[in-house]
Amino acid sequence: MTSFPAQANRVRDSTLPPQRRLYALRECTLHCAPYGFRATWHHLVVSARIPRRLADDPDALVRAADELQRARDVVMPQVQEYAERRRREKAVGMRAPQAPPPWNSWGWCGIAYCPDPEHHPAGPLATVVQGVLNRYTAGITVDTHCLACGIERRRPGRACPTCGVHPDGPAARWRVPSTEERWRRIWRRDLGNRSETLAS
Ligand SMILES: [Zn+2]
Repeated sequence: MTSFPAQANRVRDSTLPPQRRLYALRECTLHCAPYGFRATWHHLVVSARIPRRLADDPDALVRAADELQRARDVVMPQVQEYAERRRREKAVGMRAPQAPPPWNSWGWCGIAYCPDPEHHPAGPLATVVQGVLNRYTAGITVDTHCLACGIERRRPGRACPTCGVHPDGPAARWRVPSTEERWRRIWRRDLGNRSETLAS
């Protein structure tokens, strides 16, 4: 498996054909998907305005990679700090981790997992990820609040009605009906006027 930085370099390499750069962006998103892969992809298509015909605006791919990079830069220090603490705990004989942070138990991909690919927070990825980490550090739990947008949760076990983030992360059993057809449309960046509405 190639790394995020290597794939991001490919996305930014304007000598490569746009389609190859798109596939490199897909690899980046598989490495770094705060909303889960599909919802993160939808977010990037909208926020970076990735066109159906990539040749119309290949720089959109760079904007998308840059946004992923910023989100990754927010979370990686925390992931490394957690891993370091675990190493220290194991060294002194503590076998069971002290309640791992939820964002880390999912391998941090899916830190703000959204089961519906078209219902996710609208802000920049890095801002949302930082918000989740801040609320977690402040002792706010998913039992009472949505860590992504901060609203009080009234229905545990359901995706947040405001921002779409599910408190159970990728383990959430709730699935969106007819996702496959919608997903094909999102992958083709065939979002019609809706993308322009969301992007504005
Ligand atoms: Zn929310």
